[in-house]
Amino acid sequence: MTFYDLHSHSTASDGTLTPTLLVQQAAAAGVRYLALTDHDTLSGLAEAEQAAASTAMQLVPGVEISVTWCGRTIHIVGLHVDASNLALQRGLAELREFREWRAGEIANRLLKQAGIVEALAGARQYAQGALVSRTHFARYLVDCGVAASVQEVFKRYLVQGKPGHVPGQWASLEAVVRWIVEAGGVAVLAHPARYKMTATKLRALMGEFREAGGVALEVVSGSHSADDVKTMARNATQMGLLASVGSDYHGPENAWIVLGRLRALPEECVPVWHDWHERGYIQEAG
Ligand code: AMP
Ligand code: MN
Ligand code: MN
Ligand code: MN
Repeated sequence: MTFYDLHSHSTASDGTLTPTLLVQQAAAAGVRYLALTDHDTLSGLAEAEQAAASTAMQLVPGVEISVTWCGRTIHIVGLHVDASNLALQRGLAELREFREWRAGEIANRLLKQAGIVEALAGARQYAQGALVSRTHFARYLVDCGVAASVQEVFKRYLVQGKPGHVPGQWASLEAVVRWIVEAGGVAVLAHPARYKMTATKLRALMGEFREAGGVALEVVSGSHSADDVKTMARNATQMGLLASVGSDYHGPENAWIVLGRLRALPEECVPVWHDWHERGYIQEAG
């Protein structure tokens, strides 16, 4: 049983459960500490906090922030961020502005280059007033019959070289780590195996991340294989980074990722939560 799940999404970004349902399901699954880490927004945290109050689980207020580094999109998770911090709020607001512009641009390209009409209206319907993610486009296009699965939509339409691809122009690594640290949080480099980088490139990324004030690597992720976990545990140890654990849960539709059911952190790792009790982040040691 894993007691910590430090990466998850709700309807405040591209998850399919409301913050309340997410918290209730995580608590029922035996999670003791859950981080809600929606993409580029803090808007689900208040509801999640309130829902957690009537469970035995503690909510870790978090966020997953989009970064452009060397022309690639990288995700940085912030844990224990103070949602009332103005610099963090302003930074995220700017990212959401880019998201809004990008959503229109994705729709334009899908129309011109793939003949797909009304994609923006469709994606908005799936976002239900929350920020628009590529995931919302993908869900809409699956339901339109354009492709059989969300993954297929990404592969055929939304990634580099495909009709609906718009290059990311997110925030810099340094700025994002600074926002997190200034908001009293801990910066974690999310799902490192997903970037498919060479060992050299990943080392450069981890070095710059640490230099900027980042402290942990997400060694266990719902998207990591057993081999990825081993590789990333070694990387964390060699780079002097703490280790984090998170499902990256987006809802029950992705049945292969289950809340609170994660691979164990290898013995060699120092967990990112090792000093959370002393720091007053959590009430009791896990
Ligand atoms: P965005 O931040 O709007 O560019 O969307 C990124 C999100 O899309 C990620 O957080 C994942 O939830 C989802 N995603 C990215 N790549 C894929 C993929 N190949 N298949 C399914 N979902 C993906
Ligand atoms: Mn997502
Ligand atoms: Mn991510
Ligand atoms: Mn995520």
